[in-house]
Amino acid sequence: MKLLHMLNEKLRQLGRAILRYTPMSLFAAFFGLLAGYALWEVIDTVQKDAVNKIYDEQLQSNLDQRAREALIHFDHSVQSYETTIRLLSNHRKLANYLNPVYWFPDDQEPRLLYTDKQPNWLPEPERWKPLASPTHIMLLDTQGQIREEYRLQQTVLPEELLSQLASYISSPQTILTDIDGEPYLLAATVAEDAAYNIMGTLVMVVPVDATFLSSAQRGLVTEALTAVVDGATQVILNSSDPEVIGKGVTLDQLDKKYAVTTQSFAEYGGANSNLLFATMIPKASVRELRRSVIALERRQRAIVAFSFIIFFSLLFMLVSNRLSRALKRLSDFSQRALGISQPVARSGNQLMVLEEWMKQFINLVREAREDMRSRHESEILEKEALTSAIMDASVDSIITTTSDGTIIDFNPTAEEEFDYSEDEVVDNLSVERLIAPESRIYFLNLFAECQRAKDFNDARSELVAQRSDGSRFPVEIAIQSIQLRDEVLFTFYFHDISERRRQENEIRALAAFPSESPSPILRIDKQGIIQYANQASEPLMAFWHSGRMQELPLEWRIRVAEALSSGEDFEREVKTEDAVYSIMLSPIPELEYVNLYARDVTETRLAEEEARRHQNELIHVCRVSSMGEMATGLAHELNQPLSAIINYANGAKRRFVRGASGEELLEPLENITAQATRAAQIIKWLRGLVERQSRVRQSVDVNEMIREVLSFMDFEIRKARLDVEFDAGSDLPPIPLDLVQVEQVILNLLRNAIDAIAASGVEGKIRISTRFENDNLVILIEDNGPGISEQAMEHLFEPFFSTKTTGMGMGLAISQSIIEEHDGRIHVSSGELGGATFRLSLPLLARNKQIA
Ligand code: ADP
Repeated sequence: MKLLHMLNEKLRQLGRAILRYTPMSLFAAFFGLLAGYALWEVIDTVQKDAVNKIYDEQLQSNLDQRAREALIHFDHSVQSYETTIRLLSNHRKLANYLNPVYWFPDDQEPRLLYTDKQPNWLPEPERWKPLASPTHIMLLDTQGQIREEYRLQQTVLPEELLSQLASYISSPQTILTDIDGEPYLLAATVAEDAAYNIMGTLVMVVPVDATFLSSAQRGLVTEALTAVVDGATQVILNSSDPEVIGKGVTLDQLDKKYAVTTQSFAEYGGANSNLLFATMIPKASVRELRRSVIALERRQRAIVAFSFIIFFSLLFMLVSNRLSRALKRLSDFSQRALGISQPVARSGNQLMVLEEWMKQFINLVREAREDMRSRHESEILEKEALTSAIMDASVDSIITTTSDGTIIDFNPTAEEEFDYSEDEVVDNLSVERLIAPESRIYFLNLFAECQRAKDFNDARSELVAQRSDGSRFPVEIAIQSIQLRDEVLFTFYFHDISERRRQENEIRALAAFPSESPSPILRIDKQGIIQYANQASEPLMAFWHSGRMQELPLEWRIRVAEALSSGEDFEREVKTEDAVYSIMLSPIPELEYVNLYARDVTETRLAEEEARRHQNELIHVCRVSSMGEMATGLAHELNQPLSAIINYANGAKRRFVRGASGEELLEPLENITAQATRAAQIIKWLRGLVERQSRVRQSVDVNEMIREVLSFMDFEIRKARLDVEFDAGSDLPPIPLDLVQVEQVILNLLRNAIDAIAASGVEGKIRISTRFENDNLVILIEDNGPGISEQAMEHLFEPFFSTKTTGMGMGLAISQSIIEEHDGRIHVSSGELGGATFRLSLPLLARNKQIA
């Protein structure tokens, strides 16, 4: 039993392996052939039966036809005997012969027999013999007695037949009869003499034998045989071919070989009318034909079937190959797409491969589903944890209720904000109790609306909530419905907006700020139109001849546009008839407007003016009071040009004594003039210092100015053997300056440099350079003197600070005030040449001062 089971298992494996590794096209061919063969068998049987049936039908109709034809021919043959007998009886020879004859009824005379020679009552043989070939022709008297007999063949008719003849006399006719199994045809007619007296009967006898039967069928092209059959015994009496079908054969015996039809001789009824006419067609010939037709049909069918099998097998092979390839591609692609790593056979029956692959795929899907399920479960768990974490950590109160408002969940923030514990409210309290009475109706309406409309989620509103102790606070509330399978829950988010309210109030208060400000505050849009202006702006707007929603003056519109594009604040003072405003434009580029803050600085400016006036006076007092000291300075200042003049004058005098020409005297005289002019300038300046003259500014070429100063100092420079380098900047714009004062500053700086160099005793070098930098004219004066110590640096610009024995210490202080008067700056540092570097920077456009 076990062995059998194993065998069965092995066989199944083998079957699967065959299925598995046989390509589909081979299967296709095999099944194609098998199906073809089965079909062939079925069609062959059906076809053969059909052909047989057709042949049987054909044979039957053929047989009937033949039988009818044969019988008709037989009839014709019989009729020719009837015709012949009538011809013979009507012939005059018979009438003439009978005319003198008279047969006595009881006459016992032997009949007259003709054997060799025909009786003379017959016409010439050629007149009737071609029509019939009887064996006997007899003349019978009216009593039925045979009187004369013409024997055409030497056969003796049986007595029984002869005795029967008498019975036909009454009604002469043609009959068939059989005597002892031998059929005879008897044709009789009335014999009359010339006077038409009935003399008797003329009878013609012929045996229906093979000769008769075959001659009756003459002219018929057929294989059919005819026979006369005894109807009672179904035995053949005579056939047209006795060699083939002999006497005494029964019809049953013939059935095997022949198709037989029997017909009765109805018209030839006589004493013995139980005879039948049989027509037989040999079956063999039919069968042969049928066989050859079936064979032909089968051959043709085979050719057609073979063609079909070949065609369809090829087609099927082609289709299955295509299908195979498509399936292969499909499984390859799917494997790649699904990333199946398990090996899958690539050749053989692709249907099996696909089945294998499908199994793997289903496994994969099952695994994936399992994986998804577990992932889904963990996700749900995570989500639940996350939800409760969110609920717990939410800064908002989150309250979940049933559809009638009963609280079922209350998060920690809610506990804190509403001052209830979770146990107190859950299943106990309706959510509306958390709302202050004045907001309750509104809340209930909102809740009802949320319940009515299924998609009415996230309804947001602001209301007043109420804590357990009855205290209130503003909240923003959002309601969200949660559609569960069999009920609807609602989640309420309460967001405490006390802080927001406070901020809003603050913002509102702040918004009122500008309007309450005593200083003008305006908001200008990018087109320069005043969008907002507080009350304090009225005088300023009146000065500009503008107003709210009106344009600023052109100059300010330009400033507004500049401030917006640069993003930088711009500050400037404006003097109206009664006040001075310091105006600041503060751009807010992202909103494309500029805030204008103005400050009334009239008081400040007046105070400054006053202070400046005081300072000038102070300086003046200072200067006047230190006049005594200044006298020394004056002497020092004037000493230089004066001693130069003396030197040049002495030189000129010497040249004159030597008798020099006028041209030789020209140079010292020019120098004298220059030095004298300088002295006059110094005096003028000093007077200016003392007099506090009003300053006049003019457009000055700075390079030109420095050259002028250098020419003043030419004598001193040469005397001190200094190397002075002037690096004049190109393309410097003219600048409005108080020329005399600034010249004085440069003069002072150069002189300090010369003093410093002289004190150190080095080979002096001074470099002056000018340049234009950031809207400022910059003048640098560098020397290679000892430089300035740290301590000195701190006090350098203070009045009366000096390290020199003869110094007044006013030079730098005055220089600084002059430069600051020009809105410029003076700055000292240690320079590249090793000594001090003084840097003057003068703005091209002085801010506060109008150009005169
Ligand atoms: P005075 O020249 O009368 O001393 P200043 O105010 O012109 O007064 O100069 C103040 C002091 O600054 C000088 O005494 C000197 O010590 C110092 N000082 C000015 N210029 C230079 C310089 N180029 N190098 C070194 N020290 C200088």
